[in-house]
Amino acid sequence: MAIVVQKYGGTSVGSIERIKNVAKRVIKARTSGKEVVVVVSAMAGETDRLIGLIKEITDDPPPREYDMVVSAGEQVSAGLLAITLCNMGCRAKALLAYQIPIITDSRHTSARIERINTESILKELEKGYVVVIAGFQGVDRAGNITTLGRGGSDTSAVALASALGAELCEIYTDVDGIYTTDPSIYEKARKLKKISYDEMLEMASLGAKVLQTRSVEFAKKYNVRLLVRSSFRDVEGTLVCKEDEEMEKVVVSGVTYNKDEAKISVVRVPDKPGIAARIFRPLTEEGINVDMIVQNISHDGFTDLTFTVSEKDFKRAFELVKRVAQEIGAKDVEGDTSIAKVSIVGAGMRSHAGVASRMFETLAKEGINIQMISTSEIKISCVVDVKYTELAVRVLHDAFGLEEEEVKEEK
Ligand code: ADP
Ligand code: ASP
Ligand code: MG
Repeated sequence: MAIVVQKYGGTSVGSIERIKNVAKRVIKARTSGKEVVVVVSAMAGETDRLIGLIKEITDDPPPREYDMVVSAGEQVSAGLLAITLCNMGCRAKALLAYQIPIITDSRHTSARIERINTESILKELEKGYVVVIAGFQGVDRAGNITTLGRGGSDTSAVALASALGAELCEIYTDVDGIYTTDPSIYEKARKLKKISYDEMLEMASLGAKVLQTRSVEFAKKYNVRLLVRSSFRDVEGTLVCKEDEEMEKVVVSGVTYNKDEAKISVVRVPDKPGIAARIFRPLTEEGINVDMIVQNISHDGFTDLTFTVSEKDFKRAFELVKRVAQEIGAKDVEGDTSIAKVSIVGAGMRSHAGVASRMFETLAKEGINIQMISTSEIKISCVVDVKYTELAVRVLHDAFGLEEEEVKEEK
C-alpha cells in the first residue's frame, strides 16, 4: 500500500474542534486505501507560550533544557489527535521522536536530522495503525531531546516522507497554498499551482515562513513531492516539485519580506588586508550567520563595513563586533534593528535583463530608500526601513504583474 505523510500545522490543530476536523481528513485518506503517517505541530501559540515561560526565568537558558521545554507542545497534540482518531473508530498510535527514533546531531534548538529508523513506524502501519508523530523534535545519539528550529515540523514531515518512500508529503496549513506573496499582507496575492524547489527555497529562506527552509532543502535533495494545502477548505493546493515545462513562464514569481533582521555598521575601519576576517571570525565561532555584507570604497585609508544578522543574534553580534572594533581601531559601531529585507524571486530572472532596475525604480517612486542590495541568479533583495515593508511588497507585486490571471494553458 502507498504511504502518504500528512503534516498539520499549529492553527490546524489549534482546538479540539480542529483536531476532530484533522481526524476526519486522516480517516478519509485511510479509507481511500493509503497508509497514513501524520506529523503534528504544537497547538497554535503553544510553542510561544513555552518560550515565554523560559523567558520569565532567563534570556540565556541552557540549550538542552530549552529543547526539553519547547518540544513538549507536540507531545500533547500528537496524543490528542491519536485519542480523537481512536474515538472515531480509527486505530492510531502516537509516537515521540525518541521512540522511533529520529536521530539528529546535538545542535540544540536547530538540530539536523541524520537518520530515521523507519522499522518502528512500518511495524505499526502493518498492524493497521495510523501513526501520529510529534513534529519539531528529535533525539541525539546520547539520548538528549533536540528541536529542529522554529517551523521545524515541516522538516520532520519531509524527512519522514523521504525515509518511508512516501508517494506524497502533504503540508496542511491555514492558507490554501503558496502565494505570490504573503496573503495576510496583500489581498492581491495569487495562489500558484506549482513552484520549483529552487524558487521555494529562495522564498522560504527570504522570509516566506509557509515552509521551513530546511524542509525544502530536504525535499529537493531527496525528490519528495510536497503539496501545500488548506486544512480548512477542500481546494487544490500548490505542488512544490522539480522545475518543469508546465511551470508558469514568468520572470518574477514571488515577493517576500523578512522583518527579523538587523544591521550592524563598523564605521571608519582601517582599509587593510585581514580586517574583514578579524571582524567576521568571532561571529562564525559563535555560530552567528551573517547575511548581506557591503563595504564602501575607501578614500583616505578608511572604509565602512555594514552587514546584517538575524534579529535574534543581534545583541550578541553587536557586543562581539564592538570588542573587535576597538582592537582594530575602528571609529564606531552602529546597530539598527528597524530594517526589513524585501526580495523578489523568480527562475525567469536567469534569462531576463532589467529586473533589478525595475525593482529599484519601483521603490524609488514611493520614496523608499534602499540601504543594501544583494542578488543571486534567481533573486534580488533590498534592505529598507521596516516601516516601508508592506508598501514595498505591494508596489513590487504590482510592478511585476503578479496579480494577473495565470496564463491559460494551450488547448
Ligand atoms: P503552520 O502553523 O501551518 O506551519 P505557518 O504560520 O508556519 O503555518 O505558515 C503559514 C503562514 O505563512 C500563512 O498564514 C501566511 O501568512 C504565511 N506566508 C508567508 N508567505 C507566504 C506565501 N508566499 N504563501 C502562503 N503563505 C505565506
Ligand atoms: N511548534 C514549532 C514552532 O512553533 C514547530 C512547528 O510549528 O513547525 O515553531
Ligand atoms: Mg509552519
